[in-house]
Amino acid sequence: MENMQTINVLLTREQIEERAKEIGKQISEEYAGKSVYLIGTLKGAVMWMADIMKNLEIDTEIDFVVASSYGSGTSTSGVVKIKKDLDGDIYDKNVIIIEDIVDTGTTLHFLKKYLADRNPKSLKICTLLDKPSRRLVEMEADYVGFSIENLFVIGYGLDYDQKYRNLPYVGYLEG
Ligand code: 5GP
Repeated sequence: MENMQTINVLLTREQIEERAKEIGKQISEEYAGKSVYLIGTLKGAVMWMADIMKNLEIDTEIDFVVASSYGSGTSTSGVVKIKKDLDGDIYDKNVIIIEDIVDTGTTLHFLKKYLADRNPKSLKICTLLDKPSRRLVEMEADYVGFSIENLFVIGYGLDYDQKYRNLPYVGYLEG
């Protein structure tokens, strides 16, 4: 491979799968007898979405959105745009947004409001990763896989320049 860079492992596949089982069980219990409508945020949340959905023992529908925040460099400006909207109607449904990472909170702050305007019965957030130290707007996920320090992470759906999404673990680049 060209441009070989050392990748440090932060969270292994086993750790993540174990956590997904726990959260899946928790959601299944909390929504027992009901159905949920999962909304995955593309592209970062794909692996985590798959992990969560296969651990649900309740009726489940899935859908996806693409939300992009525009800003300079790696920090977000607060301007979020929906590039791909939902396929289905969420009115009166129990919606859970499945996100890869909550960083400044800007994207989810916008997305939550955007979806709440369609009057779902309930609206919660399940994120693989949380970086609370980076928050610019108040945003708390209901289900958090792992809270991490301020590192730029890759893998398990997360990219750097569209690369590394396929890594079966969460890591960070050295240097
Ligand atoms: P926020 O709006 O919370 O600042 O940003 C959320 C989005 O920024 C995430 O969905 C993700 O796409 C990107 N992001 C934030 N932190 C990281 C990170 O450490 N690594 C990667 N690959 N993307 C990140």
